[in-house]
Amino acid sequence: MRILVTGGAGFIGSHLIDRLMEANHEVLCLDNFFTGHKRNIQHWFGNPRFELIRHDITEEIRLEVDQIYHLACPASPVHYQYNPVKTSKTNFLGTLHMLGLAKRIQARFLLASTSEVYGDPDVHPQTEDYRGNVNTIGIRSCYDEGKRVAETLAFDYHRQNGVDIRVARIFNTYGPRMQENDGRVVSNFVVQALQGNPLTVYGDGSQTRSFCYASDLVEGLMRLMNGDSQGPINLGNPDEYTILELAQTIQKMINPDAEVQFKPLPQDDPRRRKPDITRAKTALGWSPTVPLEIGLQKTIDDFRARLSAATPSAPAPSAVS
Ligand code: NAD
Ligand code: UDP
Repeated sequence: MRILVTGGAGFIGSHLIDRLMEANHEVLCLDNFFTGHKRNIQHWFGNPRFELIRHDITEEIRLEVDQIYHLACPASPVHYQYNPVKTSKTNFLGTLHMLGLAKRIQARFLLASTSEVYGDPDVHPQTEDYRGNVNTIGIRSCYDEGKRVAETLAFDYHRQNGVDIRVARIFNTYGPRMQENDGRVVSNFVVQALQGNPLTVYGDGSQTRSFCYASDLVEGLMRLMNGDSQGPINLGNPDEYTILELAQTIQKMINPDAEVQFKPLPQDDPRRRKPDITRAKTALGWSPTVPLEIGLQKTIDDFRARLSAATPSAPAPSAVS
């Protein structure tokens, strides 16, 4: 098949492209390189089945493909809050353009939505029928509401135009190729511990998250795309940790002498998050397989190699397998 991956030079997109290329598909990687990097995909340069398109999805584009994995959108709060109007545009206009493309060429369309559509959840763990508790005017809204309208667009294109859609609600995912300055919690703690800096825990660290390793997530995305269930389907690892527990685990694995420094909790930071993955288990036969400490070790090894490589021509960061 010919498959388009928007946001393909980013963290999750590049791992997905690895799997699609390994399965002998033709892959079009589309990215504006806001948070993505050529180094994540450069190992496919020169392969005749791989094509790289520098494009911003807030502009229209015409392509011919069978499937579209729509991942283009900055995912870290630091990056999506850098230019919040652009984040809303990427989610609304960008998703509109990609759905318009899917409609025109009759391609199957998968939206990478997020657990953020549940906001600061009153229901725990979160099931897909929970409608969420989202602030419409806060600093996370450009992303949270942006993804909510992206889901709305997907379902309306389906109802109105018969577009064949799939919607994944992705929970916190981590692994090799996260940027050193990504700003999300796993990459922050790992880089801080490796560099001998204090681990910055926001608030008292009692808020919880559930962390899914990248290879597990990519497997879930591919099963959703190629299965019969439209979704929305939660994809995440239901093992739940407080942020302080995560800091202590990474501290133990890298540098037991590393300090923990408490910093103010950002506005609207969700108190807890854990997916109910019953639907993914039933509809896709999917559940995560990589335990936190195993995934963290691979992530630590990747960051260690990148941080110790002094030159910009460092080797491509490793794959998740
Ligand atoms: P990422 O920031 O590493 O990747 C996003 C990619 O999209 C980057 O390559 C970036 O350059 C590209 N991009 C951003 N805006 C664009 C635009 N206007 N036009 C073209 N390309 C653009 O993030 P990620 O962690 O790989 O996340 C990928 C997708 O998964 C995102 O849609 C995100 O919302 C979703 N998601 C991720 C997580 C997670 O924990 N990683 C959780 C929930 C949802
Ligand atoms: N966090 C933290 N220290 C950091 C970065 C994040 O304590 O250096 C906290 C953050 O406040 C949140 C959790 O870790 O409670 C997860 O943050 P992240 O940005 O990774 O993802 P999200 O909030 O979108 O789930």
